[in-house]
Amino acid sequence: MTPLEMRNERYAPLVVKNLCSRGFDACYVRTRAEALEQSLAWIPQGALVGWGGSLSVAQIGLLDAVRSTHPVLDRDAAASEEARQECMRQALLCDVFLTGSNAISEDGRLINMDGNGNRVAALTFGPRRVIVVAGMNKVVPNVEAGIERIRTVAGPVNMMRFIKSDSKTACSVTGICRNCNAPDCICNSLVITRRCRPAGRIKVLLVGEELGI
Ligand code: SF4
Repeated sequence: MTPLEMRNERYAPLVVKNLCSRGFDACYVRTRAEALEQSLAWIPQGALVGWGGSLSVAQIGLLDAVRSTHPVLDRDAAASEEARQECMRQALLCDVFLTGSNAISEDGRLINMDGNGNRVAALTFGPRRVIVVAGMNKVVPNVEAGIERIRTVAGPVNMMRFIKSDSKTACSVTGICRNCNAPDCICNSLVITRRCRPAGRIKVLLVGEELGI
């Protein structure tokens, strides 16, 4: 076991305990393969599955898996931008919604900044069940550190993933967040999920590998 894996093994139980104390159903697994197995176990047979943009969910192989095991609202297969938007709207009423999280505070809060808002909307209300997949690299000491993580890591790097040649955001020009107000800003809705109601609706899967951005 590497030193980082040892650190994750010792740290994760505290974060899981704090998430559970807030009504989340949480657990820790070591590997991507275990994460895939656990997340599939959380999806009932025949459940309609939707998702938000999440590298972590894709990286554990969950998107590919559910496409062959469940009925899905596949926004990535939409034929047009209009169809994609409609798929994202429909996903707000799916049975199981899959997403990542920009950060998770040690005391068990989810911190997310959205461009379109569909991901934080689903976290807040709509889908009967939400599964959050997050590597231990997303765990931060507190909410303030989570917001800082979004400004210094997740925001600018995600901007680069989808950058258009005419982008005017501060981070796309300088690589650093300046709290911009550009038309194509991807930081529009900040949601801190501090408790889960009803209890157990949101399931958080912490993974002992680096996932996502
Ligand atoms: S510069 Fe704008 S788009 Fe980039 S991370 Fe900051 S607020 Fe978000």
